[in-house]
Amino acid sequence: MSNWRERFARWFQGRYGANDTLNKWLLGAFLVILVLALLLQSNLLNLLSVLVLAYAYFRIFSRNIEKRTAENRKFLEIKSSVLSFFRGGDRTHRVFSCPNCGQKVRVPRGHGKISITCPKCHTEFVKRS
Ligand SMILES: [Zn+2]
Repeated sequence: MSNWRERFARWFQGRYGANDTLNKWLLGAFLVILVLALLLQSNLLNLLSVLVLAYAYFRIFSRNIEKRTAENRKFLEIKSSVLSFFRGGDRTHRVFSCPNCGQKVRVPRGHGKISITCPKCHTEFVKRS
């Protein structure tokens, strides 16, 4: 048994491993999708869960540590911007939509009523920051 473990440890050396946020989320997503697939009897979700798991395993056993680290960093960036979107922006900035074209404009908070010029269509509109 210890021999088997030693061999596995040697084989696993230099590989990326499961200790990053993206892999934890992938494995979590796999479980959620799998449960949904079973509940809804959906072949599509079943396939999706297999793909998510395959991607997680691919990352765990990958030797390209640099690339996996970059992936995880990208994932963390996306995650934090999604989270701040659901919290209604961060504490230092507010996001407004241009009334003309819908372009999102980010402005610093706490400057009272300000006039904002849309970077896309150059429409001016006044908002309270
Ligand atoms: Zn605009």
